[in-house]
Amino acid sequence: MKAAVFNRRQGGDSTPMHWIRSLTFYFIVFLLSLLLAACTQGRVVAASLRSTGHFVPLVSDKRVLYEPGAEAYAKEIALLLPGALRKAEAVNPLPFKDAVEVYVCATRESCYRMTGHKAPAIVTTKLFISPALIHDTKPVDRYLAHELSHLQVLQRLGAVKSLKLPSWFKEGLAELASGGATGSSITDAEAEQAVIEGRSFTPDAGRNIFASFFSPRYGSYWSLTQPLFYHQSMLFVKYLQASNEAAFRELMISIQQGEGFGTAMTNKYGKDLSSIWEEYLRDLRQRSIPGTEEKQAG
Ligand SMILES: [Zn+2]
Repeated sequence: MKAAVFNRRQGGDSTPMHWIRSLTFYFIVFLLSLLLAACTQGRVVAASLRSTGHFVPLVSDKRVLYEPGAEAYAKEIALLLPGALRKAEAVNPLPFKDAVEVYVCATRESCYRMTGHKAPAIVTTKLFISPALIHDTKPVDRYLAHELSHLQVLQRLGAVKSLKLPSWFKEGLAELASGGATGSSITDAEAEQAVIEGRSFTPDAGRNIFASFFSPRYGSYWSLTQPLFYHQSMLFVKYLQASNEAAFRELMISIQQGEGFGTAMTNKYGKDLSSIWEEYLRDLRQRSIPGTEEKQAG
């Protein structure tokens, strides 16, 4: 009966304009689907909808779950997990809100299917480890701590608010926690020299959800290599922490309770982000002048 009514309605509006409108609608949906599929973030969102029901908890540590065939990788991750957790928790005054779970994939291909990304380790809505981390990229413990830092923030803020946090802060925090994972191929001196020469990111206080989703700002936005961007981000977050430990702690709590990053920064430090960045630049330039520290000490 309902089907008959539906058919009559369809048949009752079969004018050429109706068909043109319908075709236009489906064409736009088709184009949007193509765009989303072509965009990394779109692939990540689509992959995050996949079930992880086939992952098996490791007997020795049920926080680590693995795809059939990845038990050896999972055991390796389980050995490193306690230390990596301690590192992530050391820079974040708030504990993990929910249980920690690490999903270890059997192959690079299956990890790409589960995450939509070729990264060796990544947090989408869950933390995934690819065999690529174990085979290609070292040090594994630092990458694990880096991703755990992301998971810790994600558990507090959820995917949308987490996305709005500035990339330089999220990555700088994760690098600080880990001791340097993505940025480990760069030295502090190289990263600082590049900042002094003007080859650096400029910290923003976060952007709206659409801008953050469709054009997240990472190294390439400032024509920086990814390791350089990550290392510089870590050094600036480290400066934020060292220059005022109490303010940094309050900032961390406040943003994970949902306060906007720029507002929280100004409230806790008593000055805005661009002023603190200028101070950081002055500090770097001062330290780069040969003999300055000795003269000041004398
Ligand atoms: Zn990261």
